[in-house]
Amino acid sequence: MPDITSEAKRIYYKVVRSRRRTMCIEVKDDASVIVRAPLHTAQQAVDRFVRDKAPWIVRHLARLSAQPVRQFARGESFPYLGREYSLVVESNGGWPHVQLEGDKLVACVTGDTSPGSPALKAALLSWYLDQAASVMSARVDALVRQTGLTPSRVRIRAQTRRWGSCSLKASVNLNWRLIMAPQAVLDYVIVHELCHLKRHDHSRQFWDLVASFVPDYRAHRKWLRENGARLKL
Ligand SMILES: [Zn+2]
Repeated sequence: MPDITSEAKRIYYKVVRSRRRTMCIEVKDDASVIVRAPLHTAQQAVDRFVRDKAPWIVRHLARLSAQPVRQFARGESFPYLGREYSLVVESNGGWPHVQLEGDKLVACVTGDTSPGSPALKAALLSWYLDQAASVMSARVDALVRQTGLTPSRVRIRAQTRRWGSCSLKASVNLNWRLIMAPQAVLDYVIVHELCHLKRHDHSRQFWDLVASFVPDYRAHRKWLRENGARLKL
């Protein structure tokens, strides 16, 4: 794996060459760095590009490592539709259930209620997935009506790194973690994927189409770049 050293930090990165015209860099949630480059780009040119972008990469990696690991402890903050809720854990003898009460996220679990217990984690994950299924499906329906862009099917997925994707068969996938983001950001990602039904690229025309439905989409992209790593259990 190639690497460069910037400000005494070594940056390892992977190069993915494809039919594209420009180079870009992605820093993944797992802190891996990927450089996407046109097919015949020389390694020297890639190195130079990474060196130029090194301050940005270092900042991004620092932000990722600053993310606290969730403890699933009482009083810890959990995001839902862009707001933070403080976790309350109660023990009950019946079915585990989770609900919002004011600014609290109340989890009633059977058995082990200690921070990070499997029962507590499972109850919270299943609550988030349920909310994602109902809220996100309703937003998809509303935005399909608003844009007139209809996918063949929509799936809300747990096993994906991306926020959303759209296949050539017009099937849209959305990451359940978007339920943690403000609704305007969730809406933007849905509209983004619906617009791919018309254009399967990120051309000027694609962004113009996105902007016709979400004029301030740039602010939402920025929000995701800055806060996306925080949206996880
Ligand atoms: Zn896209």
